[in-house]
Amino acid sequence: MLLKDKVSIVTAASRGIGAGVASVLAREGSSLVIASRDFAKLEKLAKELETRHGVSVIPVKADITKREDVRRIVDTAVRNFGRVDVLAYNTGPPKPGTFMELSEEDWDYGVRLLLMSAVWITRDVLPYMIERRQGRLIYITSSTLKQPIPTLTLSNVIRISLAGLVKTLAYQLGPYNILVNGIMQGYVDTERVREVAAARAQREGRSVEDVIREIEKEIPLGRLAKPEEIGELVAFLASDKASYITGSLILIDGGRTLCV
Ligand code: NAD
Repeated sequence: MLLKDKVSIVTAASRGIGAGVASVLAREGSSLVIASRDFAKLEKLAKELETRHGVSVIPVKADITKREDVRRIVDTAVRNFGRVDVLAYNTGPPKPGTFMELSEEDWDYGVRLLLMSAVWITRDVLPYMIERRQGRLIYITSSTLKQPIPTLTLSNVIRISLAGLVKTLAYQLGPYNILVNGIMQGYVDTERVREVAAARAQREGRSVEDVIREIEKEIPLGRLAKPEEIGELVAFLASDKASYITGSLILIDGGRTLCV
């Protein structure tokens, strides 16, 4: 097991990528605090992971666009486990839309969802990592950092600041043995992607499978990723095996992004 006796936080974990990451970290032996707005789903996932993997999993109802909620996530981890070894930061998806379709309120919410939540949770976990001179900060972002998607304005514009956060923190925290990396995932087979595909299918009078097939054609591996495949990368970066990787932004997109 890669993460035996570690303590990890996974945010936005009730479904999709976050749930896939939490499952792999639990399988690798990590105790977990999982957070999201949907407490019923989180509680169910926590019980499943505890039964299947014999680790402690504590669900926390939290909206990561709210400062006090973010504080509660880290407080829960420290109160229950006394420390945090790994932060696997994930967020909910931002509102799609072109620049002209977005309101100032959308921008304000987008900045809290995609940037300030990362700043807040990093501020909260860091003192505990610095004190112990060890830690892993892993920011799950998007391949839009490398290759913007025309209708995902908020994602294209705001998420790029996490690349700056990763590079800056890696530099500043290296002396404390805290390793900082980002993950840029392409299409992952989640409920969210299926919902977006279903909306497009309805607009265009096609089937959902047809829309998904069209996306898959752009991907050299010919399929979407499974959420657990993102989890495998997070588990590796969180483990002792990744002891010299910091300041990296790693694409995991089945070869879809062509820029180097
Ligand atoms: P999803 O909708 O399936 O799951 C999102 C999770 O975030 C859920 O657990 C939800 O409860 C939680 N969440 C939403 N808003 C929240 C908030 N304010 N506070 C706390 N929790 C919140 O989405 P997904 O497909 O798993 O995507 C996860 C992230 O990865 C999103 O930011 C998405 O934009 C990004 N992303 C997804 C893909 C993909 O193909 N699925 C590709 C690139 C980037």
